[in-house]
Amino acid sequence: MPPASPRKPAAELLRLALPLLMQHGIPPTPRNYAIWYEYVAGEHKALRRSIDDHLASGRPFDEETNARLYETYLATDKEQEIERLRAELQRLVNESSREICGATDAAGHYQSSLQGHAQRLSHGLDENKLMHIIDALSNETAAMVATNSQLQEKLKTMSKELASLRDELQWIHEELMIDALTGLLNRKGFDQMLERCIRAARDQQDPLCLMMIDVDHFKRINDKFGHLVGDEVLRYVAEKMREAVKGQDVVARYGGEEFSIILPHTPINGALHVAESLRKGIAASRLTRKQGDKQEVLDQITVSIGVAWLREQDSSVDFLHRADRALYHAKHTGRNRVINGESL
Ligand code: GH3
Ligand code: MG
Ligand code: MG
Repeated sequence: MPPASPRKPAAELLRLALPLLMQHGIPPTPRNYAIWYEYVAGEHKALRRSIDDHLASGRPFDEETNARLYETYLATDKEQEIERLRAELQRLVNESSREICGATDAAGHYQSSLQGHAQRLSHGLDENKLMHIIDALSNETAAMVATNSQLQEKLKTMSKELASLRDELQWIHEELMIDALTGLLNRKGFDQMLERCIRAARDQQDPLCLMMIDVDHFKRINDKFGHLVGDEVLRYVAEKMREAVKGQDVVARYGGEEFSIILPHTPINGALHVAESLRKGIAASRLTRKQGDKQEVLDQITVSIGVAWLREQDSSVDFLHRADRALYHAKHTGRNRVINGESL
C-alpha cells in the first residue's frame, strides 16, 4: 500500500479498514478492527511490514495470524490506541472551532466594510462612485455568503464524521466488547454480532447455527480448587472453543461459565459436528496444577451444549431460546452431551 501520510481522520481510517477485513475473510472483531485500523493509518511501521509480508506470502489471515498480530503489535498499545482515537476526536473539535472563528473574523471584516460604505454613502456621491460602492458591496456580500456556505458544508461534513467516529469508537472500544478474563467477545459484543449474523444469513439466504455451551458442575471446581483455578478453567475452555471453530465463527462468553458460538454459513449437521468434537476434546483433556513438586490432576472438565438452527420467522430471542432449551435438555439428561434443538 502507498505511504500513508499525513494521518487521515479516524472515521475515514475505520471506513478503509472494514473492506480490507472483508477482502481477507477476517472476522470483524474489535481486535481485528484495531489491527487493520493501524495498518491503514500506516504509522505503525513494524505492524505494516509484517502484514505486507504476510499478504505477499499469499497465506490466509487465520485465527492464529490475527491473534499473533494483535499480541505482537497492539496488545500493549491498547491504552495508547484509545488515547490516539481520543486525540483524533480532539483534533476534529479544534478544527471545527477554528473554522467558526475564521467565519466570525470574516463576518467582522464584512461588517466593518459595510460601515465604511455606509459612511461614504452619507456624503454626496457621483454616479461612478455609487456604482463602485454597489459593486464592492455586491462582491463582498457574495464572498460572505460563500464563506458561510463553505462553513456550513464543512460543519456538515464534520458533524457526519463525528457521528460515525462515535459509532466506530463505541465498536472498537475493547472494554465494551471484550471479556477481560478470556479475551472473547463479551455479552454485549455477542448480542451485536448475533444481530449482524442473522441479518447477513437472511440477506444471503445462508444457514446459520448457534451453540450455547455451559461448563458442567463448575461450582464444584470453584469450591474444590478455588476461584483462581476456576478462572483458569474458563480460560482453558475458551481456548478449546477458539481452536474448535473456523475464522468466520464468533465465540463469546455469554456470562459466568456459559459460552456461545455463532456459526455462519453452517447447516445444523455441520454445527452438531463442531459441537460434538468440541465436547469430546474438552472431556478428553486433563487439567493439572502444580502442588509443590508434583502435578496434581484436576477433575475431568466437561461441557453441555445446545445447538439451534435459525428458522425463517425466528427473532434473535427465539433463536437463543431454542439453543438454550437444548442446553437445558443436555443438562437434564446427564450433562457432557450435545443436544440438537431442532429435535425437541
Ligand atoms: P451445571 O452443570 O448445572 O451447569 O452446574 P454448575 O455448577 O456449573 O452451575 P451453577 O450455575 O450452579 O454454578 C455456576 C458457577 O460459576 C457459580 C459461579 O460462582 C461460577 N462462576 C461464574 N463466573 C465465574 C468466573 O468468572 N470465575 C469463576 N471462578 N467462577 C465463576
Ligand atoms: Mg454450569
Ligand atoms: Mg450456567
